[in-house]
Amino acid sequence: MKISFAGAIYKNIFATQTSSMKIICVGRNYSAHIEELKNEKPDTPIIFLKPETALVKHNEPVFHPEFTNELHHEIEIVLRICKEGKYIQADFAENYFDAIGIGIDFTARDLQNKLKEKGLPWEISKAFNQSAPVSEFLAKDKITDLQNIDFKLTVNQQERQIGNSKSMIFSFAEIITYASMFFTLKTGDLIFTGTPAGVKKVEIGDHLEGWMLGNKLLDFYIK
Ligand code: ZN
Repeated sequence: MKISFAGAIYKNIFATQTSSMKIICVGRNYSAHIEELKNEKPDTPIIFLKPETALVKHNEPVFHPEFTNELHHEIEIVLRICKEGKYIQADFAENYFDAIGIGIDFTARDLQNKLKEKGLPWEISKAFNQSAPVSEFLAKDKITDLQNIDFKLTVNQQERQIGNSKSMIFSFAEIITYASMFFTLKTGDLIFTGTPAGVKKVEIGDHLEGWMLGNKLLDFYIK
């Protein structure tokens, strides 16, 4: 039977859509973190996406989701994309971001492990609501050495993760070149560049603070 859609076709379905952004994330970009999760070192960056609904700004609290008992923090350096591009060549890749901040790639580790065991995509364990709090950003041209950006995370004033961009397996430029083969980068997109060792679960009430180059940029609670 053929269903007639006459008179019921949505026209201009995108007319009311506001402009959106995407978050591109890199997994397994620091050797010590690969070892702590007993993963294999990748030959190319491992890329996944989070939608705009994952974003948390202005140090607003993050509500602990009910579907996980193992909500892990992963502090990461985050790049802000400043122009559109695809198939970006490595030599020009650094022109495509203009600001650098930090963020937390929250991960429902128990759920991720279950999905990984079954060989299934682990999108829901990474891309859920509020899984990507981000800080204010520093202008890239104020940062003298992109290969030497130190950053750290404390939870309840205890040091949890300490990292430096010099320990990344894939550089910012390599990540941009690789990701832009698959996804057109657009102004306002963010790139999470991978987490160092020390990932651990958070609890309701925990106070997370993140620093980059000595500046405290993240300061929020789990509710
Ligand atoms: Zn991550």
